[in-house]
Amino acid sequence: MTTINNNNWRTALQETVRYTKTKLKIDVVFVDSKDPKNDSLNYFSEGTVTRKPVIKLVANHSPKRKYYVLLHELGHAILCKEPDYEERFGSANKSIRTKIGLTALVEEEYEAWDRGRALAKKMGWPLDKYYEVVRSVMLTSYLEYVVLVFENAKLKKEEKLLKDKLDKEKELTNKDVTTNS
Ligand SMILES: [Zn+2]
Repeated sequence: MTTINNNNWRTALQETVRYTKTKLKIDVVFVDSKDPKNDSLNYFSEGTVTRKPVIKLVANHSPKRKYYVLLHELGHAILCKEPDYEERFGSANKSIRTKIGLTALVEEEYEAWDRGRALAKKMGWPLDKYYEVVRSVMLTSYLEYVVLVFENAKLKKEEKLLKDKLDKEKELTNKDVTTNS
C-alpha cells in the first residue's frame, strides 16, 4: 500500500488550487486566521458585481487540511451553479431565524462535503479517512450553532413571557394601590 506523505498532499493542494483558479475562475487566497477581519474563514462567497468569488484557506493549516477544506468549498461552488440551488438553499431560505433557514444551511453544508468528495473521486485526486474527520468536526460545529440559535430563541421567548407577567402584576398592584388610597 502506498502512503501519501505530506509532500503529496501539498501537490494535491497545488493541483486543486490551480484547477479552482483556471477552470472554475474562483480565486483562492491564504489568510492568517489570527487576523480579526478573517472571521468568516474558509468561506466561499459567490461574486456580486463588485466582488469576485473567492475561497479563503487558513495559511498555517497543514496542506492536507487546506486541501480538504478547499474540496468542501468547491462543493459549495458546484452546488450554487445548479439550477435548483435557489429553490433548495437560496437566499430566501437563508434566514437563520427560521427552522427552514437553519435546515437549508445545515443541508447545504452536508451536501458540499459530499460534492467535494465526489469531485476528488472524479478527478482522481487523493482522499483518505481524514476527510471524514474534518467533515465531522466542521458539521458538528454547525449543528452546535443551530442548537445555540434555538436555545437563545427559547430563552428570549421565556424572558418575554416573564416580563409580560411582571408587567401585568405591576399593573394590578398599581390598580390596588390606587383603589385603596
Ligand atoms: Zn461550508
